[in-house]
Amino acid sequence: MAKVILENLSKIYPGERGRNPKVAVDRVSLEIASGEFVVLVGPSGCGKTTTLRMIAGLEDISSGTIHIGDRCVNDTPPKDRDIAMVFQNYALYPHMTVERNMAFGLELRGFPKEEIRKRVQAAAKTLGLLEPDNLLVRKPKALSGGQRQRVALGRAMVREPKAFLFDEPLSNLDAKMRVEMRAEISRLHRTLGSTMIYVTHDQTEAMTMADRIVVMSSGKVQQNDTPMNLYHRPANRFVAGFMGSPPMNFFQGRLRRTHSGLEFAEETPEGRTSWVLPLTSGSTSGLASRMDKPVVLGIRPEHISPDAGGTGSFEVEVDLVEPMGAETLVYGRTAGHKCICRTFRSEGKELEGRKMRFLPDASRLHFFDVESGQAIS
Ligand code: ATP
Repeated sequence: MAKVILENLSKIYPGERGRNPKVAVDRVSLEIASGEFVVLVGPSGCGKTTTLRMIAGLEDISSGTIHIGDRCVNDTPPKDRDIAMVFQNYALYPHMTVERNMAFGLELRGFPKEEIRKRVQAAAKTLGLLEPDNLLVRKPKALSGGQRQRVALGRAMVREPKAFLFDEPLSNLDAKMRVEMRAEISRLHRTLGSTMIYVTHDQTEAMTMADRIVVMSSGKVQQNDTPMNLYHRPANRFVAGFMGSPPMNFFQGRLRRTHSGLEFAEETPEGRTSWVLPLTSGSTSGLASRMDKPVVLGIRPEHISPDAGGTGSFEVEVDLVEPMGAETLVYGRTAGHKCICRTFRSEGKELEGRKMRFLPDASRLHFFDVESGQAIS
């Protein structure tokens, strides 16, 4: 295992006859410690796959440097970088057995037969490919999607690489299998202690698996932090809206001073005040300079609860109720904005079309600059 360091890494695709060049990755700098599990996450087209492919050597670098261990690998061909990549589509050879699929890369590199056998057996055991059925003798078409992805993992493991790179490895699996494989990859990381860099657009995968998450948008790093810091202290509105499901609610409004402190007044698009939330002193740091200025208030759906009408509660017109069993999602609109509440109370469909009141947890508020989207702290 080894650390991986990216310095000002950029990728610019030249475009047709040099016109409309596309900046896919824009001066990305990251330090991934030896043994760390880092997830690159972001919406489609944000540059995460291109970043991973540059680390693998499958894509040329436009500028910047990549170090794997202590070596700059900018000019090192992929096969000499000592990393293993696991893809979404497994990329197994259909005519080979599972055993040969796992052994083939080592055979090409001239490893002794006995060493190959030992490594394949060890990986197969760790990944549960030997029991209850011995899958080593099967061809890929006789395996389920989850089993195929396990073989692809095994093929990467036998190489004992300096780092593992994963490109959306779970996207082809059904929802139940995704959850199982997610846990399996996390366990594998604990067992092997290897450096792992994992690309996904799925924020749940990122939150559950990562030591550290790098949120990307438009080729740039938006925030590079632990899962809990991303959730509790998003650096900007993009990160706040991307991490969390359902996403954070945003209300545009204005901060006002009152005789006892500060309050947030939500404003409708026409500039009318529709509800007012008194702020507790814990949530007002950094807000003093924003008095009477427009700001965006962010509240996660799980930090809003249905309420009989306490101070700071607001009225919503409910348009959809989604009972999920353990929890219920209630979708509605205030006078100015859409809003989702996630409650453990079992609300019924009969609420749809009715009015109800929601109360935000005043200690879990986020404020963002209207123009830049940066968090105000
Ligand atoms: P996805 O989740 O959809 O795979 P991504 O975040 O991995 O998205 P990339 O595949 O890294 O995004 O692409 C980043 C940007 O670069 C996109 O806008 C994409 O259209 C563009 N891009 C990728 N490959 C090329 C190419 N060969 N030529 C021109 N533009 C490209």
